[in-house]
Amino acid sequence: MQAMQVERPGAPLRMVERPIPMPGPGELLIEVAACGVCRTDLHVAEGDLNGPLPIVPGHEIVGRVRALGAGSEGFSVGDRVGVPWLAQTCGRCFYCQTGQENLCDAPLFTGFTRDGGFASHVVADARYCFPIPDRFGDAEAAPLLCAGLIGYRALRLAGAGEAIGLYGFGAAAHILAQVATWQGRRAHAFTRTGDAAAQDFARSLGCGWAGGSDEAPPELLDAAILFAPVGGLVPVALRHVRKGGRVVCAGIHMSDIPAFPYADLWGERSILSVANLTRADGREFLHIAAQVPVKTHVTVFPLAEANVALDRLRTGAIEGAAVLQP
Ligand SMILES: [Zn+2]
Ligand SMILES: [Zn+2]
Repeated sequence: MQAMQVERPGAPLRMVERPIPMPGPGELLIEVAACGVCRTDLHVAEGDLNGPLPIVPGHEIVGRVRALGAGSEGFSVGDRVGVPWLAQTCGRCFYCQTGQENLCDAPLFTGFTRDGGFASHVVADARYCFPIPDRFGDAEAAPLLCAGLIGYRALRLAGAGEAIGLYGFGAAAHILAQVATWQGRRAHAFTRTGDAAAQDFARSLGCGWAGGSDEAPPELLDAAILFAPVGGLVPVALRHVRKGGRVVCAGIHMSDIPAFPYADLWGERSILSVANLTRADGREFLHIAAQVPVKTHVTVFPLAEANVALDRLRTGAIEGAAVLQP
């Protein structure tokens, strides 16, 4: 098998050849058809997030089951499956036992603490894989598995309000704008200052307003969701949220949040983060994504060009989502 792996923080990923792994008990061997490129992969490659190295990134995997480990349940050889960020949980900690497996004390994460999908093959715990609705092609489905479903968790935590601000109009926001509009909400998009192409793109996906992150939206927001990893946007977003409103930080890593006056938080406004996903989030979101139906905009790169895809993501040159195909 082939894999693009992170060997040293900040160094380009390197293509390696390895024997195809055998699935262990409860696991599936999956031939990768497509794997989305997420900002988290960039954080892993650049060392913002420190895990074991070398590691194969990639946690938005769509592929087909080629072999079943002993006792694995739910899938047969040939089935199409999706592998998300949450690779495994302990099942025993307080969080696992209270329906919050996304906060598990001893989890494994795909493409961070176990090898992911920037590869031709991957092994995954069958209990954490999802069936993919038939209406999505392989590459189109890949961004649903993190950008879509962790974005969806962020939208749920944003509450039931109708006016939603999306800061950072990348892979997640381009999916969330469609879901929020379908739910009858009004989505407003904040992009890098002067990024007219991204603003046009946001409007084409249902956003009623799109502007720079230094601009004020046309109405007070019930909630703002931050996908951009820029801590400075937290107090900015807070100033555009009504009393009782929420600012939801949806990224796994963010630069420091600068100090701001308490008056901006006053009025029962809140700031919260979204961490990981539960399997229930995944099933619920994939069902909704097929109903909307979400149309993902993807730019496909060959697996060997993973470094090019990461570079484009870093510079904001990807419209929608980048996807690798072996
Ligand atoms: Zn646990
Ligand atoms: Zn991700």
